[in-house]
Amino acid sequence: MLSHFISVLAAALLGSGEPTLKRYEFTEPHMGTRFRIVLYAPDQDTARKAAADAFARIASLNAIMSDYDNTSELMRLCAQAGGPPVPVSAELFFVLSKAQEVSRQSGGAFDVTVGPVVKLWRLARKRHKLPDPDKLAAARALVGWQNVRLDQAKRTVQLLKTGMQLDLGGIAKGYAADEALAVLQKHGIDRALVAAGGDIAVSGPPPETDGWKIAIATLPGEKDPGRLILHHAAVSTSGDAEQFVEIDGKRYSHIIDPRTGIGLLGRMSVTVVARRGIDADSLTKVVAVLGPEKGIPLVESCQGAGVRMVRQKGEEWETIISKNFPKLHPVEK
Ligand code: ADP
Ligand code: MG
Repeated sequence: MLSHFISVLAAALLGSGEPTLKRYEFTEPHMGTRFRIVLYAPDQDTARKAAADAFARIASLNAIMSDYDNTSELMRLCAQAGGPPVPVSAELFFVLSKAQEVSRQSGGAFDVTVGPVVKLWRLARKRHKLPDPDKLAAARALVGWQNVRLDQAKRTVQLLKTGMQLDLGGIAKGYAADEALAVLQKHGIDRALVAAGGDIAVSGPPPETDGWKIAIATLPGEKDPGRLILHHAAVSTSGDAEQFVEIDGKRYSHIIDPRTGIGLLGRMSVTVVARRGIDADSLTKVVAVLGPEKGIPLVESCQGAGVRMVRQKGEEWETIISKNFPKLHPVEK
């Protein structure tokens, strides 16, 4: 009460506590999607420099983690699969450590070693033909998070089987959004949003507001559930809305069950809110693969995290919301 009174008084004496902040927006293509940065800064020069630095950080993370670029650090690591431990960058080690933690907790529902299987499904999407069973079996034999050995002290990674391929497509964008916010913070910008497609991270709220208003992508015919209002948080949505393949009337998601090597069936969308993008992004796959019954307790064991899942039930959509999922606010007309 007293401190509130003092800050009100101080603001009154000084005119306004903060310099007037203006909204700036920037977009650039990175990591196979569009990254959008919305930030509040005192002037255009500050805004531009900060955004340019944040995009440069995202580009450098892509050079580490891309699986489309054979020269990325990740691909160079995979080229040594079956060999001795390989020293890696702090960034790659951090993301792989988090990935291993989520794999362990989820019993392998999230598993970045799905690379060889993901590659076959990407081909299936292009050709509208299911992966060849023999090739799929061979790819599945290379999947298993237990075959990744991390040595924290030496900061090395060892991939135990020749042919292993890591795929960070289910975690890298959330991490990149976190890192972009950190760069903006270094420039003194603490009210910002970074969106990488369905992976969003936000710092402080826009001036005079309670938070960033964020819509959740809906499935066809689903009623708009309203807006999240968030600050210092991350939200990721993942599902089969955009990336899927339909073969013989069955719709396979780009999310793979690492235990079967098959793209998930049945329409669904999973939204996780967490403190950090790296958590929100990876946890969506956990709930998609395990389902809400087993997935929700895992999400809620991550501090500050909650999940909303919509899945097909006959002709209807079934919505399941965990208790820590933030309130959804009605859309203003
Ligand atoms: P995006 O953010 O690009 O929409 P998602 O966050 O939905 O992607 O993650 C899906 C991607 O994660 C897939 O394209 C694939 O690269 C990878 N992936 C698929 N299944 C799994 C899984 N079970 N565990 C970890 N990564 C996965
Ligand atoms: Mg994602």
